[in-house]
Amino acid sequence: MNLEFSDTEKEFQKDVQSWLSDNVPADIQEKTQNGEMLDKTLQQKWEQILGSKGWLATTWPKQYGGPGWNATQRYIFDVERAKAGAPGTSPFGVSMVGPVIFNFANQEQKDRWLPGIVSGDTLWCQGYSEPNAGSDLASLKTSAKKEGDEYIVNGQKIWTTQAHWADMIFCLVRTDSTVKKQQGISFLLIDMNTPGIEVRAIHSIDGHHHLNEVYFNDVRVPVENLVGQEGMGWTIAKFLLTHERTTIAGVADTKQEIERLKHALKNTRSGSGVRWDDPQARRRVAELEIDLMALEYTNFRTVASTDNGNPLGPESSGLKIKGTELQQQVSQAIVELGGPLSLAWDNKEAIGNMEFNKATRRYNFLRACTIYGGTNEIQKNVIAKMLLGL
Ligand SMILES: Cc1cc2nc3c(=O)[nH]c(=O)nc-3n(C[C@H](O)[C@H](O)[C@H](O)COP(=O)(O)OP(=O)(O)OC[C@H]3O[C@@H](n4cnc5c(N)ncnc54)[C@H](O)[C@@H]3O)c2cc1C
Repeated sequence: MNLEFSDTEKEFQKDVQSWLSDNVPADIQEKTQNGEMLDKTLQQKWEQILGSKGWLATTWPKQYGGPGWNATQRYIFDVERAKAGAPGTSPFGVSMVGPVIFNFANQEQKDRWLPGIVSGDTLWCQGYSEPNAGSDLASLKTSAKKEGDEYIVNGQKIWTTQAHWADMIFCLVRTDSTVKKQQGISFLLIDMNTPGIEVRAIHSIDGHHHLNEVYFNDVRVPVENLVGQEGMGWTIAKFLLTHERTTIAGVADTKQEIERLKHALKNTRSGSGVRWDDPQARRRVAELEIDLMALEYTNFRTVASTDNGNPLGPESSGLKIKGTELQQQVSQAIVELGGPLSLAWDNKEAIGNMEFNKATRRYNFLRACTIYGGTNEIQKNVIAKMLLGL
């Protein structure tokens, strides 16, 4: 494997750097660099800027409005994006339902839904998990009963990230309860403004509202919103989850977090915490950088393999496990090395050091990253099954 970028790739890297330096709005950059969450308006503003350049749906083929980049170009873009202080994008439209639509939907559905995703105008959320169906997703109970040219949907989803922002939800629903549980599931696209949908907030331990419960009470959904055939939902769900896991590894953003930590340690006021001249602090950072480098090389191998036309397999589970563990370790190191500075929670004036501001919020939020996208225990089961045949 050649780890050097080619001349063409270096040229591409320069174009990306130059476009980012001209196009990341200052308010978005400042918030991202301060570790703040963007609200819906700013998040969508950034996604629409990328959309108008044709750089939002980076994995999509050109025919559907993607840039037609290979995996190396996507990797370069992601690293430069994080370095430029630009936020990541919401995965639900571009990384999840978009690829489902262009792989499984009919032409009419592609024409109807893809343009809004690729432009950043339509926001989506993912309705998979239910109170008694998380890891055991196939036990889901939300039902969709066909009545004429509509499905009548009843049930409840939970942990639905950004449901309070979304225009659309893609849902796994039960259309048949008389067959093996995996075979009775279908994939339905539902307009969040349909009467009978209620969204209730769940406030998470970081103090923010990302998560929701979504209730469906006799929600009428046109049959033309079914993707694929009835009973195909499980096949689509598995396809989508593999896509979800690769984006969760977060190499580019973790790299940036470590840079922020180093910057913070070099600039911390004396007497207010651990500093860069403490060998224990430098050793801790070095260990994180070594782990990150190992993850990055594994990611490179996956990139090279997909560029050679190989499908993604259990590697996506491995990347998810290592990537999320590292995100947690980095956030823990930031809190511990920041010491009392990290306790400020959300007060950069008090601590005079923006890198440690919100460190504890982020630490708290990232406890969830080994759970979402399929828990790390489940990823280990996937690896055991696919690699070891257990
Ligand atoms: C921040 C956050 C955002 C999320 N966003 C979304 C979203 O937008 N849309 C959506 O649909 N869902 C979302 N989820 C839900 C997420 O996918 C589930 O939480 C996850 O799949 C685990 O399901 P569960 O919570 O029901 O836990 P359970 O499945 O009940 O698991 C509990 C524990 O048991 C372990 N366990 C379960 N089964 C096994 C097994 N077979 N082998 C070994 N260990 C096992 C698990 O690893 C876990 O530690 C989100 C979750 C979080 C925390």
